Parts: sequence; structure tokens; C-alpha cells
Amino acid sequence: MNITNLDNIALEEFSNHEKVIKFTDEASGLIGFLAIHNTNLGPAVGGTRMFPYASEDEALADVLGLSKAMTYKCAISGVPYGGGKAVIMGDPDKIKTPELLSAYAEVINYLDGQFYTGEDVGISEADVQYMLKTCPFFIGHSEKAGDPSPYASLSTYYSMQTAVMELDGSSDLSGKKIAIKGVGKVGGELARLLSNDKSEIYVSDIKEDAIQKLLQLVPTVIPVDNDKIKQLDIDIYAPCALSNELSLDDVSQMKAKIICGAANRQLSKKEVGESLFEKNILYIVDYVANCGGLINVVDELEEGGYNKVRVLKRIDGVHETVKKISQLAREQNRSTSYVADQLAESIFL
Ligand code: NAD
Repeated sequence: MNITNLDNIALEEFSNHEKVIKFTDEASGLIGFLAIHNTNLGPAVGGTRMFPYASEDEALADVLGLSKAMTYKCAISGVPYGGGKAVIMGDPDKIKTPELLSAYAEVINYLDGQFYTGEDVGISEADVQYMLKTCPFFIGHSEKAGDPSPYASLSTYYSMQTAVMELDGSSDLSGKKIAIKGVGKVGGELARLLSNDKSEIYVSDIKEDAIQKLLQLVPTVIPVDNDKIKQLDIDIYAPCALSNELSLDDVSQMKAKIICGAANRQLSKKEVGESLFEKNILYIVDYVANCGGLINVVDELEEGGYNKVRVLKRIDGVHETVKKISQLAREQNRSTSYVADQLAESIFL
């Protein structure tokens, strides 16, 4: 196992991160990065993502951006933790072995409680249970918080209700045209929640089996071309796939009135938030919308242990957060992304 501290990172995603490491384990093929952005509020928390990144720089940029977003998410969710994240390079379907997971658990043990981690894209609840056998710093025990994704879907759904309330004066989602890109764990459950409201749900995914699986569960969803989903004439666009979902070019072609999805790091750069504001598209900031997953897993760290009633109550608070950010944005004539960042910074800085 080789663990190296990285200094002098030249990528623009670097933002005074407290600690960035690269880890490699030749025997198991493990290679990845771990970033701790800010621990003013408490030890860092954040999921572990496994993805076939095209290059080390791409993986490093993602972990830097995702860990920073976790700092903001913790602050705005009112939980006493800092932001961290880890990424493992490689296709989980091809190279994820027990040996690789054990080696990764060793990396987390090395940090000795500076970083708590759990599921994200490419890392499953079963993987977390496996690594918990040798490392106590994983969160998401099956018999406690378990899979965070339904809770991320729930907070995204609540955020949509409040966003619609802000624009229409009613939180009713029935009849709304909503497009979900990426129907994995979070996007799929979001579609299921919305189907109870009789919303008109359009979906796309790069994996046909994800669409087929969803159709079994929610036969009313309408599959559409993944390359065209962003430009549909819809009320709400819900990005639920991966990072860098929205560029300036995308915004210029969008017809949706609201963007509210669970994917982390949706804006390819800061200016996209300003462009959404100028185009009068209400953007529900990613780390606000998807806060339910975090709120659920960190509850395991509370004194007295996991309490689902408390979790659901805290997730319900996202209604108030979305309302507050939307109102502040209106009053200050600023973008929601700017206002949300200011609000979070006033808590953790
Ligand atoms: P997942 O892997 O279960 O689902 C992601 C889905 O997106 C997959 O079906 C995948 O095929 C699809 N996808 C990937 N790239 C795509 C593309 N370019 N176009 C269309 N579809 C694409 O992951 P998940 O757990 O559902 O997470 C989805 C997003 O939500 C991620 O950004 C994740 O960080 C974020 N998130 C997840 C949680 C959680 O608890 N799982 C919590 C908060 C935020």
C-alpha cells in the first residue's frame, strides 16, 4: 500500500483543501484519491465513488469538487461534520474485488477517524458491510442507516415540492412534466415517489437495463433519448446521474423552469449558476436537494445511535432551506447557487 500526501495541486478545483492523498495498492489494483476539504464543523464525511475515470486528473478534479460540496452540504444541513470524499479509479463491474475493498478499508483506517465514508456511485451497501468488518469508519450499517439513496430521493422530492410552491404558489406536482436523467438508486426512487403524484415522468439513462428495471417498478415512466432529455419542453429537469451535468451551452437550450436533481456537482463551472439565474430558471442547488442521504447516514454517529424519526424530521427541514434560499435570491437579486454558498459559508467559516 502506498499513501502519498499531495501538495501544490494546480487544478482549478483545488480550494484550500486541508488534506489530499493519493492511494495505490499494486496487489489489488486499487488506485484513487481522497480529499478532506474543511473540518471546522467536525470530522469529514462523504461517500466513496468508484468510476472508470479517463485520467488521474479527472478523478482528482472530481474528488476536490465533491469534497468541497460536502462541506457546504454539511453546513446547510445543520450537521456537525466537515466535507470529504474519496474516488476509486476503475469500472466497479470489472475490477471491484474483495481484495480491492479490503485494501481501500486500510486507507480509511490509516486516517483514523479524520474521515467517515459510505456508499456512492459504484459502491454498494453490501460493499460497505464488507469493509465494516475491518474498518469502523464506514457509515451505513444495514441494520441502522443502511442505503442512503432513498433519503437522497426523498429530500430531492421535497425540494421539488417547495420549488414548485415558490413559482406556482402550490406544491402540487400532479400533471407536472418532469425529466429525470440517470435512473439508478436515487433517480429510480425519485421516479417512484413522483409517480404517486401522477406527474408526467420522462427518463433516460446510458444503461438500458436501468430503464427496464424502472419500467418494471413504475410502468408509467416515458423513456426518452439521453442526448435530448435536457432540452425537452418540461417543467422540471432532475439530473440524477454524475458530475458536470450542466454547461453554459445546456442552459441556453433549456426549456425547464426548475432544475432540481440529486446528482452531486451538477454545474460544470460557477458561471452556470449565474446563467440559470439570468434565464430565470430556478436552480435548487445540488447539495441542498440531495441532503437526505447525508442526514440519514451521519445519524449513526449521533449519541444514542441511529434514530429514523429524527432523520425524517431533519430531512423535512429541506422545505424550509429551499424556501429560504429562493427568497434570499429574490431579495438580493442573486443566483440561488451564490446565495446557498454564502449561507453555508456563514455557518462553516
Ligand atoms: P447509481 O450509480 O445508482 O445511478 C446513477 C445512474 O446514472 C446509473 O443508472 C447510470 O447508468 C446513470 N448514468 C451515468 N452516467 C450517465 C449519463 N451520462 N447519462 C445518463 N445516465 C447516466 O448512483 P446513485 O446512487 O443513484 O447516485 C446518482 C447521483 O446522486 C450521483 O451524482 C450521486 O453522487 C448523487 N447522490 C447519491 C446519493 C446516494 O445516497 N446514493 C446521495 C446524494 C447524492
